[in-house]
Amino acid sequence: MSIEEEIRQKAYALGIEKLGIIKPEAMLDYADRLRERMERLPNGKALYGGFMGFADVQKNIPWAKSIIVAVFHYGHYIIPKDIGDRYGKSYLVDSRFNQDSPERQMLIAFEEHLHDLGIKTASNEHPGITAMRWAAYKAGLGIIRRNNFLYTEKGSWVGITAWAADKEMELIENHSLVECSENCNKCVKACPTASLSAPYTMNMATCVSRLSSSNDAASYDDETNRQMGGWMYGCNVCQEVCPMNKDKWEDTDVFPGLADIQRFLLPSQIIHLSYDDIEKHITPKFFYIKKESLWRWKLNAINAMVNDYKEEYLEDIQYALKDEYEVVREAARRALDTPVRFGYGKTMSNSTRFKEQGDDC
Ligand code: SF4
Ligand code: SF4
Repeated sequence: MSIEEEIRQKAYALGIEKLGIIKPEAMLDYADRLRERMERLPNGKALYGGFMGFADVQKNIPWAKSIIVAVFHYGHYIIPKDIGDRYGKSYLVDSRFNQDSPERQMLIAFEEHLHDLGIKTASNEHPGITAMRWAAYKAGLGIIRRNNFLYTEKGSWVGITAWAADKEMELIENHSLVECSENCNKCVKACPTASLSAPYTMNMATCVSRLSSSNDAASYDDETNRQMGGWMYGCNVCQEVCPMNKDKWEDTDVFPGLADIQRFLLPSQIIHLSYDDIEKHITPKFFYIKKESLWRWKLNAINAMVNDYKEEYLEDIQYALKDEYEVVREAARRALDTPVRFGYGKTMSNSTRFKEQGDDC
């Protein structure tokens, strides 16, 4: 049995959904994809130039002779209803830096097996050693659809990890996926901020996932706030509306620790949490918002409550007038002083909003 086959069998025995191995050179054309994106977007160079290093893995890891890519399915966890349309699902069941996650344990066991085989590896949980979706695509593990997500036969609810390895190997997998229908534009139409402005063209700067986790010392204008709807951290819209994800989420397993923090994640609760408690209970899981920017959580909470307004939120928003950060007090004042903004409360919840947007495509 070849070493590649031995590695593949071990991966599948551990529960990894798909595994492939590519040569480092296979990633070089990722630079072309980045250049295309930079040309298409006015601020593209500032947004995407920093990712160029992902194309040349050997520049950062000179001993790398191959890249092992693993895809694992996370779309089997029960997502609590009250937070399911406020948080990106991938973040709710994120295995990165979470030793209790079965997926993390699986990947650790796999890495140990590579070491047992005498293979030296390098990886990191965030941001990774290369562009994960492109690496998985090059390894034949799936296709990148128009919403920019990697899809396997299990849809886009998959995580990707890659290791640089010091052994020359190659293993390109097969898949049975078909490309997006020529006529389908549902993901582009449904994007609440028009960040996904055309197939494969997403402006990271205006994606709700980025806006809701930004550490920039800025609040947003009313239009951006309105577009962000009830999202607190991340956004599922362009994946939820996709017909290729229909019935792909299985909702069968409990993600470790999620129930323990669920109550802290509601906007009306976050507003009352001390910053120490946010750091203690929320930051470990949602680590893009850094310690020095924890006020972002309260801005998101105020915004979510305004956009999905219910009378009971009034007290919560008023509570934010006493926040220790001026940016939060200012957001609360803006919310309370501009009654028209409460008109957003008459709009739909996130789930209803994107279902309807998807249906009229
Ligand atoms: S995650 Fe949301 S905001 Fe970002 S591109 Fe997709 S639909 Fe648009
Ligand atoms: S919504 Fe349609 S166009 Fe967008 S990724 Fe899914 S199948 Fe492709």
